[in-house]
Amino acid sequence: TPPERIRNFCIIAHIDHGKSTLADRMLQLTGAVSDRDMRAQYLDRMDIERERGITVKSQAVRLPWQHEGDTFALNMIDTPGHVDFTYEVSRSLAACEGAVLLVDAAQGIEAQTLANLYLALENDLTIIPVLNKIDLPAADPDRFAKELADLIGGDPADVLRVSGKTGQGVEELLDRLVAEIPAPQGDPDAPARAMIFDSVYDAYRGVVTYVRMVDGRLSPRERIQMMSTRATHELLEIGVSSPEPTPSNGLSVGEVGYLITGVKDVRQSKVGDTVTNQRTPASQALPGYTDPKPMVFSGLYPIDASDYTDLREALDKLKLSDASLAYEPETSVALGFGFRCGFLGLLHLEIITERLSREFGLDLITTAPSVVYEVTTETGETLIVTNPSEYPEGKIGSVAEPMVKASILAPKEYVGTVMELCQTRRGTLLGMDYLSEERVELKYTMPLGEIVFDFFDQLKSRTQGYASFDYEPAGQQEADLVKVDILLQGDRVDAFSAIVHREKAYAYGTTMTERLRKLIPRQQFEVPIQAAIGARIIARENIRAMRKDVLAKCYGGDISRKRKLLEKQKEGKKRMKMVGRVEVPQEAFIAALSGD
Ligand code: GDP
Ligand code: MG
Repeated sequence: TPPERIRNFCIIAHIDHGKSTLADRMLQLTGAVSDRDMRAQYLDRMDIERERGITVKSQAVRLPWQHEGDTFALNMIDTPGHVDFTYEVSRSLAACEGAVLLVDAAQGIEAQTLANLYLALENDLTIIPVLNKIDLPAADPDRFAKELADLIGGDPADVLRVSGKTGQGVEELLDRLVAEIPAPQGDPDAPARAMIFDSVYDAYRGVVTYVRMVDGRLSPRERIQMMSTRATHELLEIGVSSPEPTPSNGLSVGEVGYLITGVKDVRQSKVGDTVTNQRTPASQALPGYTDPKPMVFSGLYPIDASDYTDLREALDKLKLSDASLAYEPETSVALGFGFRCGFLGLLHLEIITERLSREFGLDLITTAPSVVYEVTTETGETLIVTNPSEYPEGKIGSVAEPMVKASILAPKEYVGTVMELCQTRRGTLLGMDYLSEERVELKYTMPLGEIVFDFFDQLKSRTQGYASFDYEPAGQQEADLVKVDILLQGDRVDAFSAIVHREKAYAYGTTMTERLRKLIPRQQFEVPIQAAIGARIIARENIRAMRKDVLAKCYGGDISRKRKLLEKQKEGKKRMKMVGRVEVPQEAFIAALSGD
């Protein structure tokens, strides 16, 4: 297809505002999927399968559309909706010239709508504002059309009104995509340059790489080169998703499609990288490529120590399909052998732990999430600390922590409670905007370390679920941070060390010592539990001594019962961890970490 007849677009929306349903109607109305093959959430079905690692998701679909006598190719490019994946979102947006800004006509603008809109504007996309679900009795399109027009500029009358459910207004939307979104531009005679906006591992076909052709042309059987690593591969297959993968004789300027080279690891085909031709390579890569950088770290430990090898194999497997997952072996006094893992954010952490348990059947304990600290010692040496137990001993010059710019949308009656929460999380208010008479956007800078700890749940519960929240990284900033250690009879329990703000150190210390006192059984001797900053004790609890004699309980009882008890005690011993002289059941550590 010549570039004049191509339109590349994405749909940006807050979760549940109807992106998948609208995509279904587009697939149907354009005939990309026949009525007979149609089923609800057509593209999402592949999403679930991809999650299980068994098939290729259609990251981009080609929709044929007749407009004023010509056939156009509309390429709909899917974007991950969540903040953890900002980089992936930005690369998907960079593959488009336009975006449908889809907003639920009964809900209005939400935090994810805004975050994605800002990214779209940074990429100079043409924005088509659309209100969805106008069939709902609760829809208030007049009100939200004004809200949208105020936000992006323009006339409320230009805000399109559709229903992904009934199909109303969807044809008109397709026509507007053709009329308003600019055709892709590029040099057809220049050396090939294609931008990778997604790469997916498929058990049968290896890595499937989704690209947007910017300049030149790629054809099957050519040798291609990845510009970031200079690695070369043979192009075994090239094609478009319409929506099933359909091989073609090549891709040229403005086209969107997939490549298969037989590589088995997504790290060989990185999002944001530029693909060129080995024989006549481009001299300059497309802008915007960066390596994914983990933001949140956590230790993953098998509850049953014999699962360690399985855990390593599972992580190796997940890494094939997720280039942003990082991990290295780690040992802990309290938890044994495990892995220190790096994630893009909290959702990413949840997805990975969920997959480890669901797909690999692993029972894991996750240590409290930590962020990346830059610790400068008194001698001026700077260390990167992602694990509190690696925090340097002795005098510290300064510590810097990662900050984020957070945007919170809430009905105005919750402004007070939201501000209170942000205050306790060391937030600094940057500004407050009324999006409409009822809804307010609050902008804060906040330490990421305060957000990874239960912020989202707190926000939701304090606003009855009405607030929405999004954030973007905003650099490192110095803060008065200290490391708090938890000691059992003078020995440090590594899994419980935490880096916290000095003002919160005492609260952390008392919570953890109290929790452990309740969870650790009495020993033959008294056991002090202390919280300390360096050598200074800030909190203390005691576990009183007890003579432990399980047999005393069954005096006169029959011998087999006694034997059973002895065996049970031996069994219990295996799951005990020794911290110095203190025996602690592993369950106590797990319970203390998970806070129950
Ligand atoms: P997504 O999270 O943005 O992909 O949203 P979905 O497409 O999954 O839709 C979320 C929910 O809204 C589902 O229960 C849909 O059935 C419903 N929905 C989507 N579009 C419409 C619409 O136009 N009208 C009505 N009444 N419901 C819709
Ligand atoms: Mg969806």
